[in-house]
Amino acid sequence: MNNKLNYLVIHCTATPEGRNVSKEDIIRWHTNPVHLGGRGWNRPGYADMVYLNGDLVNIIPYNTDDFVDQWEISNGVVGLNGNARHIVYAGGMDAENKKAKDTRTKEQLDTLKVYVKFMIKRHPRIVVLGHNEAPNANGKACPSFHVGDWLRSIRVSEANIYNKAVVSTEEVAKVSTETNSTEAEA
Ligand SMILES: [Zn+2]
Repeated sequence: MNNKLNYLVIHCTATPEGRNVSKEDIIRWHTNPVHLGGRGWNRPGYADMVYLNGDLVNIIPYNTDDFVDQWEISNGVVGLNGNARHIVYAGGMDAENKKAKDTRTKEQLDTLKVYVKFMIKRHPRIVVLGHNEAPNANGKACPSFHVGDWLRSIRVSEANIYNKAVVSTEEVAKVSTETNSTEAEA
């Protein structure tokens, strides 16, 4: 069994600053058939979402234990999905939709902070990272801010910060090859 919940991955929707994006939009974009403009995945790429106004919205069920059951998987990053929960905030691009930008509103910052601290409290060994830090990030800018710096600014312990080599690359590689989740990512 290698379905432990080891990682919390932070994403952005890669939509322009100030634009409202809903849970329904995410589900449609990710799970609609390709011929209807979706990606045709069997499930969305994010488990939880933070709206512009700070509302925290659940997309994929969560049973609070230390394991990622099949029905708890979201398709956030290839290779990590079987061991991760994915949180996304609405935004991540500048208003012109040209450049990656940290567009988190004050409300989103507050909610993300509470969410991260809550997840660490519940899963003390969980490691938090940005999509752009994942081994299979493929050069993505998502979530458009430096997750490690932000985590330190809200006093998250180094033990829970990915880019401090808590998890060895060998371990990540091992997780990647053993994960049998669908090969999709948001
Ligand atoms: Zn992402």
